[in-house]
Amino acid sequence: MAGRVEVPGADRPRPPAAGARGRTWLARGGQFETQAAVRQENLQRVLQHVLRDTGAVTRASIARATGLTSATISSLVSELIELGLVADGDHAESTGGKRATILHVDRSAYAVVAVVVRARSLRVGLLDLTGATVAETTRSFAQAPSVDDVVQGVRELAAGAQRRLIAIGVQVPGTSDQGVVIESVQLGWHGVRVAELIEAALDVPAFVLNDADAEALAEAALEREPVAERLLVHLGEGVGSALTIGGVLVQGYSGRAGEIGHVRVVFEGSRDFCRCGLSGCLESTASMTAMLGDAFHDELDDASIQLLAAARGSSDRMALGARALSRALRMLSAMLDPEEILIGGAAPALGGVYLSMLHDEFEMYPAIGTRPVRIRYTRTGRIPFIGAAQFALRSELGVSWSAPEALQPAVIENSTPHASAPGQRAV
Ligand SMILES: [Zn+2]
Repeated sequence: MAGRVEVPGADRPRPPAAGARGRTWLARGGQFETQAAVRQENLQRVLQHVLRDTGAVTRASIARATGLTSATISSLVSELIELGLVADGDHAESTGGKRATILHVDRSAYAVVAVVVRARSLRVGLLDLTGATVAETTRSFAQAPSVDDVVQGVRELAAGAQRRLIAIGVQVPGTSDQGVVIESVQLGWHGVRVAELIEAALDVPAFVLNDADAEALAEAALEREPVAERLLVHLGEGVGSALTIGGVLVQGYSGRAGEIGHVRVVFEGSRDFCRCGLSGCLESTASMTAMLGDAFHDELDDASIQLLAAARGSSDRMALGARALSRALRMLSAMLDPEEILIGGAAPALGGVYLSMLHDEFEMYPAIGTRPVRIRYTRTGRIPFIGAAQFALRSELGVSWSAPEALQPAVIENSTPHASAPGQRAV
């Protein structure tokens, strides 16, 4: 797996990094000095402003928003332009004096890569700095893809992209910590040092997250102001959850916050055996597979899911699943007091029937001292890459998307094919 992605302009300076794992690219010469750290932080603040309001900010408006001097902002913007992250645009409307130049995110130089690994498929997407998907590929596999397949998929897509890769976000079903997939039953990956292997092969920083975390980040990316505290539950072949505070993931002491699938919630009556070997787990009762049967899998389309949901017996199992999940949610929401609870994964395909079952069960035994919590489905089904890309962008540069134009529903609905090389499927 030797060799690196050959991208024109790869000798350019690298963009500022957040130092998620102790990287301090902007601390020139490798010396982490206070001055360098302050400049790095200010570069991130300016980049965040341009990212948030691309095409609507000027040096002066950023100076007003940050309280930094005009001279400092000019210097920071110059560095971001030199790095290829920001570009000068047209002149703003005159407010009496000299007309200011509008700043844009530079869409041409860089890309963030998102990889969605499934048991029988691999999707790779290249996103520009506005969050728009500029190229993507989907490959099917008879068996679960390997890390080598991930590397090859990224390499192939990047080769035709003419962009330097900032970071790679890899979304997997399973548990991960610090770039290592601890356990993915679906992929058969156990203790695989995914980030390290990808970085060694491609020389691009890689970050690993699970499906629930990716969905939670995708939802936050759609918002101008992130929800203060939100719980998301992913229902698929497995069950997972994620907590975000102000759009940032709470990862827990060992990176495993949200692993609720194998907590026992059914103690009485007949308990379904779980693939983990125990019985009465949340997953063995409330997962999509538990509710719809073994014909369900994570790559199934909505119409097929709805057919399974309409089959005999599904409704009863959905009711049992809703009950088990509502019990778990009751305790979690009393503990966390979230603003809202989102149900994601494949569950939105079940529509209002399942959601009202869940809502009714949840409200049936209100706990004194708690308040009703809004429960709704996720909205991110049509934007598969944004969660993993947001994680990679934030981990590497310390900035994130907040409702960029590229993620507005109208844009997603009307998305047209982008430049695509042979073997690539345009979005
Ligand atoms: Zn289990």
